[in-house]
Amino acid sequence: MPSLKELLKHTSNPSDSDIELITRAYEFAEKAHLPQKRASGDPYFNHVYSTALTLADLGMSSTVIASGLLHDTVEDTDVTEEDLEKNFGKEIQFLVHGITKLGKLKYRGVERNVENMRKFFVSMAEDLRVIVIKLADRLHNVQTLSHLRPDKQKRIALETLEIYAPLANRLGMGKLKGELEDAAFPYAYPKEYALVVELLKEKKEVNAKYLTEVERALKKNFKMQGLNYVSVDQRVKHLYSLYKKMQKYEMDIDKVYDIIAVRVIVENIEQCYQVLGIIHGLWKPLPGRIKDYIATPKPNGYKSIHTTIFTGTGGVVEIQIRTKDMHEQAEYGIAAHFAYKENLNKTKKNKIALQYPWVEELRNAEKNINGSENFLETLKSDFFKDRVFVFTPKGDIIDLPEESCAIDFAYAIHSDIGDHIAGAKVNNKFVSISTKLKSGDIVEVTTRKDINPSSKWLDYAKTTLARHRIQKYLRENSLLSKFLSFGGK
Ligand code: MN
Repeated sequence: MPSLKELLKHTSNPSDSDIELITRAYEFAEKAHLPQKRASGDPYFNHVYSTALTLADLGMSSTVIASGLLHDTVEDTDVTEEDLEKNFGKEIQFLVHGITKLGKLKYRGVERNVENMRKFFVSMAEDLRVIVIKLADRLHNVQTLSHLRPDKQKRIALETLEIYAPLANRLGMGKLKGELEDAAFPYAYPKEYALVVELLKEKKEVNAKYLTEVERALKKNFKMQGLNYVSVDQRVKHLYSLYKKMQKYEMDIDKVYDIIAVRVIVENIEQCYQVLGIIHGLWKPLPGRIKDYIATPKPNGYKSIHTTIFTGTGGVVEIQIRTKDMHEQAEYGIAAHFAYKENLNKTKKNKIALQYPWVEELRNAEKNINGSENFLETLKSDFFKDRVFVFTPKGDIIDLPEESCAIDFAYAIHSDIGDHIAGAKVNNKFVSISTKLKSGDIVEVTTRKDINPSSKWLDYAKTTLARHRIQKYLRENSLLSKFLSFGGK
């Protein structure tokens, strides 16, 4: 049941103006969605409330939480973007606009589309906060799949696994990624899901003894050596990530050592290595299984030390060591970055920012990046510069270089379509075939048999594919005409 009080309780350190903003957005959205119902029969407002609650739990600002509450108003109610701007200002209108735009995206299970879709998603979101809101939106949608038609369940579940969860992962949001995957898994792959649940149950029982053994011994030894740890506990691998790992080992669960791992959290990096020393003093590590992601972080910024040990009593246990900051980073990723950006002082901000390896690279690459806003822009344009992502009328995404026109689009669809392109429509308006395309455009082309490439097309075509085909046609055609005129004499 939605409750404003509950939402405010989940909001981190709200000021009076934060409370005021969230309250207004709450009441506005509740009223706007009033007669609408979800497939489950619940009021539609439950959905946007749940989205906002996830954002609050991620530590996002009141602006983002309010945008979460309002994210479906423009698409699904009478509220217009002007209404939003008037009531909540330009920034919230801009964020909701971004989310509405992303709503166009439809996954059609075409393999070649997957990476394009992820890229498109990020390039379309002019602000990465839009993606975080969209991920929270998707989490609630995928958690309430049971009320939908089976074919819809499957499509949304697969889309979640192929597009949304990898994006969450790339943004370092481990917690959200795990939740998205585990909600989607049973709908996407029901048989495999049942198998993994069954295997995990057996395995858990067998392993419990060893894990408790290791946990106890660690706590005792830390105490003896005067090491002040933050926590020692057990974490169970998310089901879908266990399934993916098992696939690598021909579904042999005995080859996966980190189903349940012992996790040690400490204050600082020195203590991480101290803990590693204590562990290897107590137990023999499995060769080749010591991974130092502190010295070499994963590309998404993940930091930790992993080691797997023989308990000496027949068990094999993985232990993960990290600092509190690293833990937060692994769970919340880019969301932690936003949270700090808006709530904390500069030194802390810089410290957090430095935990992303790419932050440092960008800093070196471009000295004048000091604000986080700037940094995110640079990050985005670095990955996606020089590309535009456009839709076919069916919703497929075509990835083209910047400055591409309808001719390039036509050739990207099929060379026969390129060769005979007669006209183009962009976002339902007739345009010339030389019109430059922008990300998000829906492009449609018409063909005519009697139309063929002309040398003029080379002034506009940008892709190698289009240029090659046009040149080929012109070459062959001029040879043919020479031959014909020769023969005619
Ligand atoms: Mn929604």
